[in-house]
Amino acid sequence: MAAPVVSPRKSIREVVMQTVLAHHSQQLLTRKRKRLPSGASAQGVGDDDDIGFWEEEEGTMEMTQIGAERTKNVLILMSDTGGGHRASAEAIRDAFRIEFGDEYKVFVKDLFMEHAGWPLNDMERSYKFMVKHVQLWRVAFHGTSPRWIHNVYLAAIAAFYAKKVEAGLKKYKPDIIISVHPLMQHIPLWVLKWQNLQKRVVFVTVITDLNTCHPTWFHTDVSRCYCPSEEVAKRATLDGLEPSQIRVFGLPIRPSFCRAVLVKAELRKELEMDPELPAVLLMGGGEGMGPVKKTAKALGESLFDKELGKPIGQLVVICGRNRTLSSALQEVPWKIPVKIRGFETQMEKWMGACDCIITKAGPGTIAEALMRGLPIILNDFIPGQEVGNVPYVVDNGAGVFSKSSKQTASLVARWFGPESEVLKKMSQNALKLAQPDAVFDIVKDIHQLTEQQGPLSHISDSLTSSFSLTSSFSRPA
Ligand code: UDP
Repeated sequence: MAAPVVSPRKSIREVVMQTVLAHHSQQLLTRKRKRLPSGASAQGVGDDDDIGFWEEEEGTMEMTQIGAERTKNVLILMSDTGGGHRASAEAIRDAFRIEFGDEYKVFVKDLFMEHAGWPLNDMERSYKFMVKHVQLWRVAFHGTSPRWIHNVYLAAIAAFYAKKVEAGLKKYKPDIIISVHPLMQHIPLWVLKWQNLQKRVVFVTVITDLNTCHPTWFHTDVSRCYCPSEEVAKRATLDGLEPSQIRVFGLPIRPSFCRAVLVKAELRKELEMDPELPAVLLMGGGEGMGPVKKTAKALGESLFDKELGKPIGQLVVICGRNRTLSSALQEVPWKIPVKIRGFETQMEKWMGACDCIITKAGPGTIAEALMRGLPIILNDFIPGQEVGNVPYVVDNGAGVFSKSSKQTASLVARWFGPESEVLKKMSQNALKLAQPDAVFDIVKDIHQLTEQQGPLSHISDSLTSSFSLTSSFSRPA
């Protein structure tokens, strides 16, 4: 096999990847030769129409019929870095079920956690650590933004773990791969490339940041890149994606938010909340981040009318996975009705039972709150990906930004008293911004793509291949 040639126009990523691809294709070729009956030529083995869709690993895989009527496998790649990626993944899974029933079998998986080694299998913990030390996160986010830096970094990791990721992909035999995480495009796409499966497996990215997203989200080899906003679509274009690859439908939100009929009075009864008092929901993403404790205490004061000696509002605090926060809040002697909850699986109910929300600028929470028409007070943001979410909410009149817990608390008290009209107006603006059909538009579009891809996958590679790294890596000449 010829060694990769370094030409001046080739990026470092290409050179590293060519080396990796060459190594793996050599292994693939050796494996195929071993399986040949004596006298058969390697040429015939390279004919993909004769081999399984996902190549069979002895004893573990059944052969998959291409184009046959069968349930298609969808693999959604996510990571529990925050709560938003899982929420979007589950939204897509549920929408597939609603729209297409048994036609698709959907797996939501953190492939890196299951199949790779450090640092890929430790992203959740590292992310939690870094976003707690925001300067560290800021440096990591902006430092890895230039394409050549993250490409070298990811290529180096791929050299170690691509085989393991490949094994993970084979386990689920996906017809469709959906990435809802900025780090889940490169390595799986390289695996598809060297397995020569790029035209058979539909690979799409669903971006879950509303504005200032990290450039690793954008990979030019995807069939589609679903952008939640025009701003993100502009960034995708600047990063080299073609208009035919980009669709703007909105952020995918769990169908329970947009399809269920939720009546506030009934929800309050079910959740054992006060039926009359206006309610504010306070949260900080899946990890319970931001100034939640300080703000809760300030609300405990501002929503209590000292002159009348009674509360003017009630508070719900959802602490997510932050157990320390929930135990600390349980200790506070409250003068107003307060519900303190851990990680909730029915967020639509809590949002439906409240009148406004205070949260860090997490895209998932924002999109869900808009859907329920909740005016939003943003009290924090993660540097980098969440910065742009603030103007998205504020400029559209759906909320305000305030870092001061005291100001936030007194604003809520005004909204629940003399400024109730402002609250009403913001609620209307929030509803205008909501995109309840986004998740259904996304799965319908993926379905269409799969239908188009079906016939394409039978056409010879020589006619359809558009890869810059030629298929000779996986096809013996
Ligand atoms: N969430 C949830 N239960 C909780 C806390 C949060 O289901 O107890 C969900 C929330 O509804 C949203 C997601 O977690 O869908 C948080 O995503 P976001 O993008 O707002 O912030 P992240 O946690 O990803 O930083």
